[in-house]
Amino acid sequence: MVRVRIAPSPTGFAHVGTAYMALFNWAFAKKNQGVFVLRLEDTDQKRHVPEAEKAICSALKWLNISPDESPVIGGPFGPYRQSERLKRYQETAKELVKSGEAYEKEGAIWLIMPRDITLGWEDAVRGQIDFDSNQLKDWVILKSDLNPTYNFANVIDDLDMQITHVIRGEEHISNTPLQLSVYRILEKEPPIFAHLPVLRAADHKKLSKRRDPVSLQWFKEEGYLPEALLNFLALQGWSHPQEKDMFPADEFAELISLERIKTSAPVFDFKKLDWLNGQYIKSKSDQELIDLISKDYAKNIPLELIEKFIPLVKERLRKLKDFSESVYFFIKVPDVPLPLLTGQTKHATAEIKQIIDQTIKAYEKEKSWTTAELETIGHNLLETTSWTPRELFMTIRVALSGKTATPPLFEMMMVLGKEETLRRLAYASKLLP
Ligand code: GLU
Repeated sequence: MVRVRIAPSPTGFAHVGTAYMALFNWAFAKKNQGVFVLRLEDTDQKRHVPEAEKAICSALKWLNISPDESPVIGGPFGPYRQSERLKRYQETAKELVKSGEAYEKEGAIWLIMPRDITLGWEDAVRGQIDFDSNQLKDWVILKSDLNPTYNFANVIDDLDMQITHVIRGEEHISNTPLQLSVYRILEKEPPIFAHLPVLRAADHKKLSKRRDPVSLQWFKEEGYLPEALLNFLALQGWSHPQEKDMFPADEFAELISLERIKTSAPVFDFKKLDWLNGQYIKSKSDQELIDLISKDYAKNIPLELIEKFIPLVKERLRKLKDFSESVYFFIKVPDVPLPLLTGQTKHATAEIKQIIDQTIKAYEKEKSWTTAELETIGHNLLETTSWTPRELFMTIRVALSGKTATPPLFEMMMVLGKEETLRRLAYASKLLP
């Protein structure tokens, strides 16, 4: 039975790198009808951990890749918090001292590194990796404060929890020979290791929490859909056999193979993520979007307006958070910056004023106020001027919204209604000397 795990150290927030590892482990477990375990490596924490633990669990739940066994759910090989397993590490370390494999020095317990052997493994992603034990030194497994070191506790837990595949970040490659020395001394078969590439920013530097947005809470607040984020993370180092860009996590779980993972550094390309997110937004029904947005992304906008606006902006929305911004001018009369208003054409200000007044006259007569009617009038109006469509319609757009990027113009006028449309045009005309 395949058993995999993620073993994050809770550091106050849930990191996108944790989601990345979780996705690959979750998918691998699913593909092999195995079990996906969450263990918390929390022995080194000065901070208060319960919140961090909660952040990780709720982020995995949001992404819909929750573990099968965890500190919260429990499971046959728990506890799954290292802080609750200290005795186990301490006893094992003492046994190793007794059997002569380890010794005490300065209150800590050190494991003896054997000479002249190779500590190597066939990495499922990278092939054979070997370390010469002569390059390695004796190392601390239990500190003087009686806490285990990462490399020791990690192995004891993977053994106790019957982990078959360790799928984790490449930053742990150099830890692996130390861990292998523990398996060797305990005469246990090590799991299969698969070291994934780390996530890198556009400049190829490792994603860093000081520089890059890495908190999953941030991704949620920006309005990335969990489906889009998972799809994006699946493409970090892995590629679809048919070179598809868009595929759901379940499809990833059917197709994943560790051998298909590339070792070259993937780049966390926000443009691509935003594009994918836009695609997933488009693929949702209006009602699904209304539910999502009204719940978390537009608390200040009345529901009936959200219902009206969704069909207007859905096609262009990249992130759910942009919704409020993109429709706010419907609700609140915008400031129209004068240079933006006059900047849509090269014609003189007086002429712009005249065209806006002409626009008001043309629309004043209109009664039905349907998108189709508004469009016909707009095009008739255009014929009476020497302006290009772009000049005319952008000028009206800015007059109505204070922005150059909005939903389609005539739909926007329809939603604004006749009275408000004319009021805003009159206001824009007044702005011009
Ligand atoms: N606590 C380690 C980390 O967060 C676990 C690494 C591993 O998966 O073995 O990187």
